[in-house]
Amino acid sequence: MTGNRRAVVLGGGFAGALTSSMLVRYVDDVTVIDRDEYPHGPELRKGVPQARHCHILWSGGARIMESLLPGTTDRLIAAGAHRIGIPNGLVSYTAFGWQHRFPETGFTLACSRALLDWTVRDQALRNPRISVLDRTEALELTGTAERVTGVRVRDSATGEERVLEADIVVDTTGRGSAMKRWLGGLGIAAPQEETVDTGMVYATRIFRAPETPGGTFPLVSVLADSRQGGPGRNAVLMPIEGDRWIVTLSGTRGGEPPADAAGFMEYARESVRHPLIGDLIAGLEPLTAVQRSRSTVNRRLHYDRLAAWPAGLVVLGDAATAFNPVYGHGMSAAARSVAAFEKQIQLRDLDPGLGRAVQRAVAKAVDDAWMLATSGDVNYPHVEVDSRDPRLTDDDGTRRRDSDVMSSVATRNREVSRAAVGLMTLSASVAEIQTPWLLAALRRGFEVPALTEPPLRPEELAVLPARSCAVG
Ligand SMILES: Cc1cc2nc3c(=O)[nH]c(=O)nc-3n(C[C@H](O)[C@H](O)[C@H](O)COP(=O)(O)OP(=O)(O)OC[C@H]3O[C@@H](n4cnc5c(N)ncnc54)[C@H](O)[C@@H]3O)c2cc1C
Repeated sequence: MTGNRRAVVLGGGFAGALTSSMLVRYVDDVTVIDRDEYPHGPELRKGVPQARHCHILWSGGARIMESLLPGTTDRLIAAGAHRIGIPNGLVSYTAFGWQHRFPETGFTLACSRALLDWTVRDQALRNPRISVLDRTEALELTGTAERVTGVRVRDSATGEERVLEADIVVDTTGRGSAMKRWLGGLGIAAPQEETVDTGMVYATRIFRAPETPGGTFPLVSVLADSRQGGPGRNAVLMPIEGDRWIVTLSGTRGGEPPADAAGFMEYARESVRHPLIGDLIAGLEPLTAVQRSRSTVNRRLHYDRLAAWPAGLVVLGDAATAFNPVYGHGMSAAARSVAAFEKQIQLRDLDPGLGRAVQRAVAKAVDDAWMLATSGDVNYPHVEVDSRDPRLTDDDGTRRRDSDVMSSVATRNREVSRAAVGLMTLSASVAEIQTPWLLAALRRGFEVPALTEPPLRPEELAVLPARSCAVG
């Protein structure tokens, strides 16, 4: 490594924190800037409004986080996060019935997004070569269409503007990224953009958890079945730190969950396909009001396909590809993008073609998550699709049939469940799961009988005596 190489990371959310901890291995110093004033603990902040909602960090993303920031998982668990094995710790009513709780092949880290972000940020900022400028807004890129040389920023307390020079600038400013405009300022054309919008609305409330065995509980989900023809309605219950349960309801256009407390309960009990989550939260003390969000459009900006790309620039995380959150893939896809970025640095160091190579690698790294989300979402009524991807627009139903067979058999076949968990947790790619063992397992089909009741274990039911009758 030559001396005095500097990176500037715009936006210090989840993707920004992981990116800075990766980049510091290859440059002398990294400056992270963020528009927000960072809180001194696991608190909500304006720049990440989605943090009010349930955030599942699947094992695919958690493992990359841990490899970049060793010790983060233990810190999260010490702070009250739960490590939940999948599918053994999952009670899920899928479109094809209850999922068997086969032995663990993946996991999720269950905690509030505020705790996750604060811990990841704190871990990253322990490195003395990573510095942070919070209350600092990125305004525009400096340089030319051939090379980005830095970023103009404004201190939001003093209004003072200045330029931060850098060998590499990374945009991780999330869904609201102004990169299209910034590139326009350098004379670079707008990228192709794809959107798939189900109109999904999220509604979330946090409850005081009842006493549970070992202080934890399964991740519970009741999922939509798009074959039924109407809007999709889902419910998820996740135990988080502080003996709390976070419950998120979500519904596509025409099936949106309401914002009031009574409507929330009714939706959890009667609108989704099974009343389990409504029954589990009945009578529990609510700790927050119902919070709603509409930021759920799948949106992909094809920076990878632009004819020209300036040296010294990378865009990743939600700033490049944002997903319908119901699949829980945004953070893990961002982590995969950071891992893909690192591979390119290892191949090319900071050569002028790095940024372009990274955009292509990032596009590949998020493609499975993109296809899982969008090919599922196109099946809902009133979905708005703006895409020229033939995999979405020209599908004759084969993709859907294959996916339905796999999802259905996965509920009752261990080997197929392993492959499905690999995909769901973004631990394995579509190419990696296509093995002879999977094909043989799919041919064998169902291996255990269908479950007729939620697979809650006696000790899980026992902590909810009054409510347990309703759930069998
Ligand atoms: C309702 C909802 C639920 C979700 N649930 C899940 C889930 O269960 N699992 C999952 O993996 N993902 C989930 N996601 C997606 C997840 O939130 C995102 O994928 C993730 O936050 C992306 O991280 P990021 O760092 O790219 O962006 P963000 O986390 O949005 O961070 C962007 C950062 O940039 C800063 N910033 C913005 N503009 C500027 C600027 N001009 N200058 C300086 N700083 C700036 C912001 O303050 C912020 O700190 C959900 C999303 C939503 C909307």
